[in-house]
Amino acid sequence: MQIVQQQLISAAMILPVQPANTVLHGYALLIEGDKIADLLPTNDALAKYPAVSHLALDDHILLPGLVNAHAHSAMTLMRGLADDLPLMRWLAEHIWPAEGRHVSAQFVRDGVSLAVAEQLRGGVTCMNDMYFFAEETADICTQMGMRAVLGMIVIEFPSAYARSADEYLAKGLALHDRLRGSKLLTACLAPHAPYTVSDATFLKIATYADQLDLRVHMHVHETAQEMVDSKREHGVRPIQRLQKLGLWNERLNAVHMTQLSADEIDSAGANGVNILHCPESNMKLASGIAPIAALQSSGVNVALGTDGCASNNDLDLFGEMRSAALLAKVATGDASAFNAQSAVYAATMGGARALGLDHLIGSIEIGKCADLCALRIDELDALPLYQAHSYIVYSASRRDISHVWVNGVARLAHGILLDVDYASLRASAKEWQQRIKG
Ligand SMILES: [Zn+2]
Repeated sequence: MQIVQQQLISAAMILPVQPANTVLHGYALLIEGDKIADLLPTNDALAKYPAVSHLALDDHILLPGLVNAHAHSAMTLMRGLADDLPLMRWLAEHIWPAEGRHVSAQFVRDGVSLAVAEQLRGGVTCMNDMYFFAEETADICTQMGMRAVLGMIVIEFPSAYARSADEYLAKGLALHDRLRGSKLLTACLAPHAPYTVSDATFLKIATYADQLDLRVHMHVHETAQEMVDSKREHGVRPIQRLQKLGLWNERLNAVHMTQLSADEIDSAGANGVNILHCPESNMKLASGIAPIAALQSSGVNVALGTDGCASNNDLDLFGEMRSAALLAKVATGDASAFNAQSAVYAATMGGARALGLDHLIGSIEIGKCADLCALRIDELDALPLYQAHSYIVYSASRRDISHVWVNGVARLAHGILLDVDYASLRASAKEWQQRIKG
């Protein structure tokens, strides 16, 4: 008979995220195998499960693991390589040439290892990734116990990974087949952007999305220049092209969307499009401000992402929550825009919904997967603490994360990553730094 592992975790506060805006004081949850099996007051839990091992997090908030809805995780190896530049110069003069010289299966393995360690350390338990050599990303995520949605990247120019759009697609579809039955990994289609993918390829992607029931993860309306170029080349804005090609719908996970007309905002809501909002990348590249308060009002699901480390320069969802909440207020002149509760929701359930994983993750509910993180609240800079959402968004740092579980397995305890070789990660990052800068 198989023995199912049980663990009881109590916390000063539990933020289940669903029901909305709830804070449970003096509660405990039971992990049974990979699932959350019970959620009840701690005193009742201790009476009901006297023989189960008990972790008392008396100075902590327990919340769902955070979902990084947009990442290029291998790009951690380009953290700080080129800063303070606009998107197209940054890409064309620095990032694409460096990628041309260095991206390989090994680059992806080493970059993703660093990215997964950084994210688990900071409370992120699931990432939606878009990059070359996604098979390698899949292997590393499996080894390190990270939940991920792997983008089947498609772009019209050749790389070390594939020579044509059809080859990118074929490799992605093979990966999608390989992931069937995986507990932690799924795949989605990931055409890079309207300005790097042709109509013919988009039509194939739309067909695969329908046939295989897959999300479409894509950069959309990132900069004003993208609007100008699309008008010149196609006679319409990128969103109009996506509408014509059958991609403007509830499967679309549109990253950035900083350039939107009032009609496009309404249309996004009416068509069930999700926005993967990356406020820090948008600010750093001076791309613009996604109108998330208006999108929220039109019914759009808002998720939060970091983007790649080359344009951020970290994979910190606490930073994104705070930036998203603050930027929305600056953009609207309304201090109530995108409040702390909205930011926490976007970093958990919003991401889970965008990825089609909200039946599994994104909230602390009985029957869901045990993807959790615990945040310390005993430091002096946490006190006094009147309201948990406010503390998380406006005061806390990812370095306050003390414990993380993914699918019921502990990955971080007392601020230390378990089963991670810190020395070899450091050595590999330094070696790549030499190679890339040298
Ligand atoms: Zn991106």
